[in-house]
Amino acid sequence: MTLPKTMKAMLLDTPRTPLRPAEIPVPTPGPRQALLKVRACGVCHTDLHIVDGELTEPKLPLVLGHQIVGTVAAAGEGSGRFRTGERVGVPWLGSTDGTCPACVRGQENLCDHPIFTGYHVDGGFAEYAVADERFCFPLPETYSDAEAAPLLCAGLIGYRTYRMAGEGVEKLGIYGFGAAAHIVAQIAKFEGKKVYAFTRPGDREAQAFALRHGADWAGDSTAPPPQLLDAALIFAPVGALVVEALKAVRKGGAVVCGGIHMSDIPSFPYSLLWEERLVRSVANLTRRDGGEFLALAPRVPVRTEVTTFALAEVNTALDRLRSGQLTGAAVVVIESELEK
Ligand SMILES: [Zn+2]
Ligand SMILES: [Zn+2]
Repeated sequence: MTLPKTMKAMLLDTPRTPLRPAEIPVPTPGPRQALLKVRACGVCHTDLHIVDGELTEPKLPLVLGHQIVGTVAAAGEGSGRFRTGERVGVPWLGSTDGTCPACVRGQENLCDHPIFTGYHVDGGFAEYAVADERFCFPLPETYSDAEAAPLLCAGLIGYRTYRMAGEGVEKLGIYGFGAAAHIVAQIAKFEGKKVYAFTRPGDREAQAFALRHGADWAGDSTAPPPQLLDAALIFAPVGALVVEALKAVRKGGAVVCGGIHMSDIPSFPYSLLWEERLVRSVANLTRRDGGEFLALAPRVPVRTEVTTFALAEVNTALDRLRSGQLTGAAVVVIESELEK
């Protein structure tokens, strides 16, 4: 296959502006990198936080997108983990320094010098992308490209959030029932838990979606659940939900925030935290999370519900995610004109 010199991409020039269609050079893979022909790339809340200027250190101009499903088109110097044509996934954690105290402790998700895909380096809203092959994942064959894409962030970080709820959880609450929640709910059911889904007040469509994906109960985020929960996961970027979730968990229960950004958490009485309730965040992912989750997903089997968009429609996908008009996961599917 001869590689083209240029490719279509959607570029963020500056925060708070729409992505712009552009023709840019196909990137060259460096040492330990693979060049991937992008087949699909999931759209995530984190992309919105970057576009909206809430995450403040993006490379500019930037190709967003950190749930990349692609096939290996070329290898850089010293690369060879994957063969040409092999399908791999690229997550948010693009690479780490491997030497900082966090990395040495085995917490590469907390690396002092991380490189995040579609933030510090270009991501997958383009026809080609380069990625550090050591941080790519082989993907289960049972998933189509579009179905596999949401596994790479919604699934992976959702899974890490779920594990952080701790042992002995039987009744699990999930606040914000989008891409991550619909994957986590299936795993929780597989592991025998009862799932309580909380949505924006009055959002009957999201509540029906939650019930379709295994939730035992669905209701408004401002209303109490029928029973106290052992733990609650928060996937919506709304700080007030921390307070609502604390009201809903039992003594010793955990509230785990799975997003990279949230609005401010309102002050609340200490009595809500008292009795060893715990509030914690989850940051990024480790390759170990990825290995565990991608082995588990086909055994459940996790089914992802996706709405697909063409590359030129990324702005529409972002707008619909921002306004809560999406059920499940938004995925950009690349229809390359270059090989036809
Ligand atoms: Zn993400
Ligand atoms: Zn590090």
